[in-house]
Amino acid sequence: MHCYDCQTTHHGPVPAVAVCRQCGAAVCADHARTAQETLHRAVGMGVSTLPKAARRITCTTCRTAETSR
Ligand SMILES: [Zn+2]
Ligand SMILES: [Zn+2]
Repeated sequence: MHCYDCQTTHHGPVPAVAVCRQCGAAVCADHARTAQETLHRAVGMGVSTLPKAARRITCTTCRTAETSR
């Protein structure tokens, strides 16, 4: 699998190291954006936040969209 962003910007085929969680595109190390995600679990009548953050990887396009306002 090759990086989708590199392919569409004509950088040529670059081996992908991750897959975007949002759109499913394969991305190289340069185009992968890592973020932490807090997980929640329903406990009784409420919701508790789990002590450890999970990892989520997105492409640059989805990252830009998520952080745009
Ligand atoms: Zn790339
Ligand atoms: Zn994406």
